Amino acid sequence: MNFEFTEEQAMIRATMRDFAEKEIAPLASENDRNEHFPADIVAKMGAMGFLGINLPARYGGGDGDYMSYCIMLEELAKADVGLAAVVSAHLSLAGKSILNWGNEKQKQEFLPRLARGEILGCLASTEPNVGSDVASIETSATLHGEEWVLNGNKIWITNGGVAGVVVVIAQTDRSQGSKGITAFLLEPGTPGFSTRDIHGKLGVRSSNTAELILQDCRLPRENMLGPLGKGMSVALSAFDSARLGVAARSVGGAQACLEAAIAYAQTRRQFGKLIGGFQLIQELIADMTVEIEAARFLIYRAATKKDGGEPATLEVSMAKYYASEIALRAANNALQIHGSYGYSDEFPMARILRDVRVSTILEGTSQIHKLIIGRAMTGINAFV
Ligand SMILES: Cc1cc2nc3c(=O)[nH]c(=O)nc-3n(C[C@H](O)[C@H](O)[C@H](O)COP(=O)(O)OP(=O)(O)OC[C@H]3O[C@@H](n4cnc5c(N)ncnc54)[C@H](O)[C@@H]3O)c2cc1C
Repeated sequence: MNFEFTEEQAMIRATMRDFAEKEIAPLASENDRNEHFPADIVAKMGAMGFLGINLPARYGGGDGDYMSYCIMLEELAKADVGLAAVVSAHLSLAGKSILNWGNEKQKQEFLPRLARGEILGCLASTEPNVGSDVASIETSATLHGEEWVLNGNKIWITNGGVAGVVVVIAQTDRSQGSKGITAFLLEPGTPGFSTRDIHGKLGVRSSNTAELILQDCRLPRENMLGPLGKGMSVALSAFDSARLGVAARSVGGAQACLEAAIAYAQTRRQFGKLIGGFQLIQELIADMTVEIEAARFLIYRAATKKDGGEPATLEVSMAKYYASEIALRAANNALQIHGSYGYSDEFPMARILRDVRVSTILEGTSQIHKLIIGRAMTGINAFV
């Protein structure tokens, strides 16, 4: 596999790097402290085309591939992992679901607005009683005449309180198990639909995370996304893209930590010497360097397979699992290298450590990804 960037990919990286360094990084700490979702920055990213980067040009997108998506997210996450979460959920969970499963009318209605950033998107699968075991969701959708009536609660939904379109995963026939699940498109303002922002998160505090409440929420029949009973496939295909996004944002956070750690080790003196000269500090930096590069190549391999139209569930799982775990180690090592200064918000590591902590939990926990990898290697399915 050739991981040389194309001219366009190199330009995407340079443009996002420049924007993120100038406009996002200076405010990241303050937005984290205040749990502030920077709608103005998100709107700017929309105007620059980043919110439609891997959607087709015929729907107003940038026609970019998964490599471009990962490169862009890594650069964004170096400045603010929370904002990378916003963009990743918007593009992968909502945009790609509508692109892959929507009918032409739904695509025309939502994709151009998503691509321009006029609206944000999200996908709501997780519920108070159901996380990893998506097939057991309790939110119900029942057909009454020409309307679907939805009842249930969704929780921990990225962009849930600010989205203009929500992909809701609901169960339409409990007796059919995972084949009785269907996806729907829901817009704010629909009677019976309300949201409550979740505050007090450990990290990704510049991203909006919300609970969604569906109480006799009535949707026109045509708001079904994809065929009846195919909601599990809608969710799984969205996860396949979004997991790559979580991996890319993890590497971005880790890279920011590595760069900060190197800069600090080159200037901080103890025992009359630069700490970067101490071999135990070099060991920490060496571990971070190798693990970040390995994670990046796992991501590029998975993205390249997806761009080639090949199934990449195993490769995506490997990238997501490894990148999220090493990001946590990298942030922790960088904090260690900074000593007590790392324990404050004077440097970015403490925030990044909190931001990447969620990466081993969402979009499939590390345990779930080990099961997916184990299933692929042994041929034995641990989920049934
Ligand atoms: C900031 C944030 C943003 C999120 N964004 C979204 C979003 O946009 N949309 C959405 O739908 N959800 C979202 N989530 C929810 C997230 O995807 C779930 O929290 C995640 O899937 C795990 O589910 P759970 O928390 O219910 O944990 P559980 O599934 O209850 O798992 C609890 C523990 O048990 C382990 N476990 C579970 N099953 C097994 C098994 N078979 N074998 C071994 N161990 C197992 C897990 O690994 C975990 O350690 C978000 C969560 C957070 C915190």
